[in-house]
Amino acid sequence: MSNEKILLVLDLDETLVHVSEKKLDVQEDFRYEKYFVYCRPALQKFLNLISEHFRLAIWSSAGEEYLNEIVSKITPENINFEFIWSRNKCTTRRDYITDSYVFEKRLKKLKKKYNLKKVLIVDDSPEKTRDNYGNAIYITPFEGDIKDNVLATLADYLISIKDVDNVRSIEKRGWNKKISQ
Ligand SMILES: [Mg+2]
Repeated sequence: MSNEKILLVLDLDETLVHVSEKKLDVQEDFRYEKYFVYCRPALQKFLNLISEHFRLAIWSSAGEEYLNEIVSKITPENINFEFIWSRNKCTTRRDYITDSYVFEKRLKKLKKKYNLKKVLIVDDSPEKTRDNYGNAIYITPFEGDIKDNVLATLADYLISIKDVDNVRSIEKRGWNKKISQ
């Protein structure tokens, strides 16, 4: 079992890209309808590198059409995702404190097909994965900063844990401090 590759479930917005109606001072990577799309620095390199060591999937709380369009534009040709899931796979939870709805990504939906000891989810929104914090790696949101180097650090970290038998048994909080630059 230990040679089974970990499934890495990636969030999209503010994790891999920043999509905005407002044009930033920097050049957008492409446009989608009325939006300007900015890729997180080193995005293609990150996807290429980690695809050698992990199985990859995307799970976003955005709508399906938007998601598929953006993902098709940012994905290097040789990469195939295990699945690309949108909001309709999320579970809606009412947050009474903020009086809003949270679209949660509950990993138990993957249980039939994947061993959850071998699933990691990367997200900038802890509230969307709170049921799965043992599987989660939280990253800072990307909002267009061209000096952002999170994906490079994250790739190093992920590769350092790629062979663990149970992702839940390792402390992932403070992951970015565990990698020395
Ligand atoms: Mg996000």
